[in-house]
Amino acid sequence: MMWIAVIIAAVGVAWLAQVATRRARRAFAAGKCAHCGQPLGDQTYRLEGKAICASCAGRARRRLRRALLAFVVLGLVFLVVAVVGTISLLRRHDPTWWQLPLVMIGCIGGLAVAVRLALGTMKQQNRVGETIDRYNLLIDTVRPPTGPDDRAGA
Ligand SMILES: [Zn+2]
Repeated sequence: MMWIAVIIAAVGVAWLAQVATRRARRAFAAGKCAHCGQPLGDQTYRLEGKAICASCAGRARRRLRRALLAFVVLGLVFLVVAVVGTISLLRRHDPTWWQLPLVMIGCIGGLAVAVRLALGTMKQQNRVGETIDRYNLLIDTVRPPTGPDDRAGA
């Protein structure tokens, strides 16, 4: 029964992400920021593939910097635990002292890989989002007129 709840939750999250992406595409087509709805201006920025304004980009940049700083601090905590714990185990002549630094190095490496994957995914989302928005604009420029006003004029 638990896996059904997990599947329903996963489908729900995917659906919400799809709705947010569609809303962001419409906002970009209207020249508005995907986050705050303000006009995009001359310079557009990307976050998770969505076009955002300079002020939202500044906020996102500050949040990302704080998150990266938190990961660096966590990595340093892992390093301190490895050094202090290993020294403590060696003083007690514990024969398993060598396991702690290995585990902590694995934790630091896992943390670094997770941060690298997250940043790589964000950059890829931005590239894909920009490409899709650019092609949508191109499609709009070559799409034949279909509105009632267009037909009346023809
Ligand atoms: Zn904005």
